[in-house]
Order: sequence, then C-alpha cells, then structure tokens
Amino acid sequence: MLGMRHLVSGAAGFIGSHLCERLLADGSEVVALDNLITGARRNIEHLEGKPKFTFREFDVTKPVEAGGKFDHVWHLASLASPKFYLAYPIETLESGSTGTRNMLEIARRDDARFLITSTSECYGDPLEHPQVETYWGNVNPVGLRSCYDESKRYAEALTMAYHRTFGVRTNIARIFNTYGPRMALNDGRVVPAFMDQALRKQPLTVFGEGKQTRSFCYVSDMVEGLVRLGNSEERFPVNLGNPVELTILEFAQRIGRLMGIEAPIVHEPLPSDDPKQRQPNIAKAKTLLGWEPKVNLEDGLRETVEYFRSRLAEA
Ligand code: UDP
Repeated sequence: MLGMRHLVSGAAGFIGSHLCERLLADGSEVVALDNLITGARRNIEHLEGKPKFTFREFDVTKPVEAGGKFDHVWHLASLASPKFYLAYPIETLESGSTGTRNMLEIARRDDARFLITSTSECYGDPLEHPQVETYWGNVNPVGLRSCYDESKRYAEALTMAYHRTFGVRTNIARIFNTYGPRMALNDGRVVPAFMDQALRKQPLTVFGEGKQTRSFCYVSDMVEGLVRLGNSEERFPVNLGNPVELTILEFAQRIGRLMGIEAPIVHEPLPSDDPKQRQPNIAKAKTLLGWEPKVNLEDGLRETVEYFRSRLAEA
C-alpha cells in the first residue's frame, strides 16, 4: 500500500479511526472525513500530527470536495448504533444513500477502488441461521430500524449499480457486531453500555429476557478483514464478523465475571424489531480472503474494559 492515497469517510468513528491507523502504518497517505455527528475528534487526535494524515470535518451527504486523486475510497460514514440512528433517522438514510453516491462518484472520477461497510442488519430479523451472504433477509421496511437497514440495502444496490454501469472496482463488507477501544461510552450499544454500567457499579440493562443472540468481533480482526476485502476482486457482499455466538444474558454474565464483580441485572423492554438471533457464516471470507478472527472474546473484552476505565478516569 506504500505510496497509495486513501479517502476514508467516518474516519473519526470507532472502526474508521482504526482503519486510518492501519493504512498509515502501511505507509499510505490518508485523507480523513467526518462530520462528527457520532464520531469524535479525540479518536484521531494522535494521527493529526502525522505528515501523511489530513483530517477534514466534512459531511459526505454534501458533494464531496476532496482535492487530488485517490487510489482507494472507503465509505464508513454511518450512524451505526441503534440509539443514534433512531435519534437521527433522516441523517442515517442520507449517509447510506446520498453519502454513498457521493463517495462512489469520487471512486468513479479517480478510477479508484471503493469499499462500503454494510451491515448484518441487511438480514433484518433473520429466518436463516447462521446468516450466509446469499440469504436475502427479513427486514421490516417501515419499522423503527428501517432507516438503517434500508439505507444500507440501498447502498449495496447502488454500489453494485456503479460496478455494473461504470466498472468501478467495488467491495461490500457486511459487518457484524464489532467492539473494542474507541467505541463511545454513550453509544448505547451493548458492549459500551454493559461496561459503563459495570464500571459505575450499576445494574446491567438486559433488554427483554436476554435470549436474543449476537456474536462479537474485535476491531483489529475487523480492520484486517476490511483491508483484505478492499484489495480483493469480489464484488458481491462478504460477511465479516466473529462466529462465536452467545445470548445477551450470557454476555452480561460474562462481563460481570471478567470485571470480577457481582453485576446485578435489570430487564428493560426489548426494542422493536430487535433481531432474535445473529451469527455470521464466514466461510466466504475464509476461502476468498484467508481471513478469520484471531482475538478471542476474553482478550478483546479485557482490552476494551481498560479503554473504558481510562475514559471514565478522564471524565
Ligand atoms: N442490548 C441490551 N442492553 C443494552 C443495549 C443493548 O440488552 O443496554 C441488547 C439489544 O437489545 C440487542 C443486543 O444487545 O439485542 C445488541 O445490541 P446493540 O445495540 O449493541 O446492537 P445491534 O446488534 O442490536 O445492532
């Protein structure tokens, strides 16, 4: 990747900031965009002095003015947490639709590679388990989560149209639940929520009975998968995630054990359309990219707790 020039949207976000770090470590130049609606400047502060890194506070739903020519366009800008996409449904739809179009236009203009981070939410509340890329999903098109699910489904369709119509070298990553340092403490997703509650010695809020399942991928594994996919010639979606599945109740108990506390659990209402089960089938990524997660849940959660502990100490 030495000498390459990358454009990354959502660069001040959780996964975006780790991707920028990785691209810089590979010797590339990075132009980073973020409108900071959910991203945080502190996530990229440590990169800002580097000669090959430029940050621009910019909303990619506006026509993107990014000077110079790019080799690779990465579209990560998105409001990925249910808490935020429920609070900003229009912005969420816009970043998946207009934002994707604007980033695709740059890739088309520059004959650059393009990767979009799509989501396991494309499968909705899945009737097929585990989810394989060829499954078309079970999405409520008018439910509360539809602003996220449908904008990503549209983004995938638009990406395929740019590939088919203009020959843009596109990739679609369907990201499953990912966690690690630089998730926002107030993000509302289950990993920061439980850790924040445990560190503050408050009860863990399990939604519903906690029988719904998820599988959690550590961020370094995710970034490795994205980079491999971004350099592949696969145009159809590829699942990236960790296939180790557990119920949310088990997950809450696991967090309690890890942090060495008796964490009481309180049950709160299950949000509407909350998927009952989710586990990626990663056979395609294994075969195609030689990729599979390396970091086990225990180690990943330990790193993440340390991060949240230091954030709370600063606050
Ligand atoms: N969840 C929970 N308590 C919380 C936050 C989330 O029980 O404080 C549950 C949520 O209902 C969902 C799962 O944890 O079933 C994962 O939620 P998250 O918001 O992290 O992401 P999702 O996978 O739903 O997009």
